[in-house]
Order: sequence, then structure tokens, then C-alpha cells
Amino acid sequence: MISTESPHPASGVIDRPIPMVDLAGQYRRLKDEIDRAIEDVVSSTKFIKGPVVAAFEEELAAYLGGRHALGVGNGTDALQVALMALDIGPGDEVITPAFSFVAAAETVALLGAQPVFADIDPATFNIDPVHAASLVTDRTAALIPVHLYGQAADMDAIMHLADAHELPVIEDGAQAIGSTYKARTTGYIGRIGCLSFFPSKNLGCYGDGGAVLTNDPALHKRMTEIANHGAERKYRNDRVGLNSRLDALQAAILRVKLRHLDSFTSARREAAQRYDRLFAGMSEIVTPSTAPESSHVYHQYTIRIADGDAEERNRLSAHLRDVGLATAVYYPEPIYRFDAYKNGLRDAGGLPETERACNEVLSLPMHTELTADQQERIVDNIGEFFKRHRNV
Ligand SMILES: *Cc1c(COP(=O)(O)O)cnc(C)c1O
Repeated sequence: MISTESPHPASGVIDRPIPMVDLAGQYRRLKDEIDRAIEDVVSSTKFIKGPVVAAFEEELAAYLGGRHALGVGNGTDALQVALMALDIGPGDEVITPAFSFVAAAETVALLGAQPVFADIDPATFNIDPVHAASLVTDRTAALIPVHLYGQAADMDAIMHLADAHELPVIEDGAQAIGSTYKARTTGYIGRIGCLSFFPSKNLGCYGDGGAVLTNDPALHKRMTEIANHGAERKYRNDRVGLNSRLDALQAAILRVKLRHLDSFTSARREAAQRYDRLFAGMSEIVTPSTAPESSHVYHQYTIRIADGDAEERNRLSAHLRDVGLATAVYYPEPIYRFDAYKNGLRDAGGLPETERACNEVLSLPMHTELTADQQERIVDNIGEFFKRHRNV
């Protein structure tokens, strides 16, 4: 983490490095509750399905104000199960942003369908519904908006587009658990919502985990079967499914953490507001803008380096790394730049806002244990980088 090669003596003393996430710090706070939950599962020996998983699914749906939630193996499987339940396959096209984690495009392609990439709204980094509309063809079979960094996509416009063409919407809510759009919880606005409980997500377990959400009982039943070998009941496997279930151990950990999710989210929002205040007046930095109709849960706090220079952004990130401050670029490349996905680009020359974002974004440490002092150090060091840089 801390480079020994190029210390910047002028940058102040490195006392303790600041990581992107602090899972150990959070565990120390919740240790008693979590250890007890794990022990209970181990002594019950109900490791697959069973009462703890069922209880978590019920509590999750209740927390989010929806009807059904089904635990699955991870967030990527959640997307796959959702697509399979909607019979997406060869000949179909699915519109999704190219500025995201690869999972949505990957599962579409895995099922033999074609992901087609929409550009983003530069203010929110979320799918641009106007551009998405221009990509609809008679092969379009679904839309997958991603609620990137924890902020809802423009769901009124997405649902309007979907309804006009009778398309189902799958919400990729892996980064946005508990976020709302016009007072509705994301994940239950479209036909199906997908969550990830990857350890660093806002509600993270201690391994892989995910969930699919829906208000439609028939769809819930179909997804339950698909995620369990396509079995309607034991040894009755009429459809091809997969083995993708949430572990009881992970469900037990998630039940504990779900009880703290409101306070986790508040901590993230407070940290985001503090970053906003600390950056006020620093003209080289664009802080995240929040759309008034959506409530951001800040999976990431992502700034832009004004004026689209990846080289400068990378130098800033290296400078911070050298003084022990972690940052990350989500995401450095549009998905259509990868060989497996290049056919999904319909606009010769690329998607301008996607490419600009790839060059400009930098995500800063954001987690439930972040302190004001740590944030001040991060922002001070960013300010200092630009001061020096301007003088060169
Ligand atoms: C994390 C993530 C996923 C995949 O979740 P896994 O649990 O890692 O499979 C999907 N989409 C987005 C936007 C993500 O951030």
C-alpha cells in the first residue's frame, strides 16, 4: 500500500494508511453479535436453505418495503437468475450502461443474448434514458439500469421507455441497497431487482452472496426454482437451472448487519456531506451531484478531476497512494472496450460521456468507520497535489 520508493517528504507524515474500506474495524464493533450468529448456524448444521435463510429473506423484503426477496449465490448470479426467469436468450438484445461493473453485460452474453451499451448522464453517472431509447430495436428484450455508486438511475424515464415498448426492467442495485427514487425503494421499481452482498458492498457478508427482489409472486417462484437446479420440488427438474443459493452462514451474518444498515447508511451520508464541505472551493474537483428525486446511499464517493485528463487523475491517485491514502477508479474502461463485448457498441467512435467519466473519476475511501480526521487528511493531500501541480 505505502510505496517505499517515492516518499513525498513535503506531503506530511504518514501516520496510518487509510484504506478504501475497513471491514476489520466494522467487525470489531459487531463481533459479539456476528460470532454468536455464526455459532448458532454451525451448531444447528442447517447450512443450505433452512430457517436462517428464510428469516433473512423475509427481513430483507420487509426492510426494503417489497414483497419477495430470494437469497442467491452472489450478485452476478442474481442478474443471471433474473434474465433466465424472463427467458432472455439468443436473438435478444438487452440495453445496459457501458460505465459499470461487467456483471450485467456478462450474464446477458452468457445466456447467448447481446448486451447493447447506452451512454450515461454526466451528472449522475447513470444510464441516459434518451440514448437508451435510441437503441431500442425489435430485438430489445429488457433494460438493465444500474444504480451506480448508490444513486438511483432516472427510473421515471426508464419505466416510461420500458412501458412504451413493453420491456421488463431489471434493476442492478448491487451498489444501492436501500436507496430510493421518489420515495420508492430501488429494486422493486422494475420487474426484478438484483443485490450483491460482496463483502465491500453497503450490506456485505463474509464471502459471496446476493439476492433477487420482486413484487410478482409467480416470478419469485420461478426464480426460486431456477436458482435451485430448476427444481419445482426435489428431483423434479423440468427446467434447466443452476445451483445458486445464499449460504445459511452468510444469511446469519447478513441478518445481524441488516439491523445496522440504517446506521451504516447514515454514516456514509455524513461522510459524503463532510467530503462535500471539505472540497468546497477546490475548482479542480467536481463532487458528486445528487438528483433531488433520489436518495444516495454512497456505496462510493466518486469525484471527477475537471477536464478529462486520465493522466493527471492517475498521477493524483499515485500521489495519494504514496502517502498511504487509497483511492480507486471505478471504472477505467468502457465495457465495449473489452473483446467479448465490443459488438454491443452501436455508436461508431464510442460513447462520449462514458469515456469522459472513465478518464475523470476517482473514488475516495468511503465506509462506515471513516473519521473526520481521515477525510481531512485525504482532502488536504488532494489540495496539495493541485497546488504543487499548478506550480510545475
Ligand atoms: C458488485 C456488483 C455486481 C456483482 O456482484 P457480485 O456479488 O460480485 O457477483 C453487479 N453489478 C454491480 C454494479 C456491482 O457493483
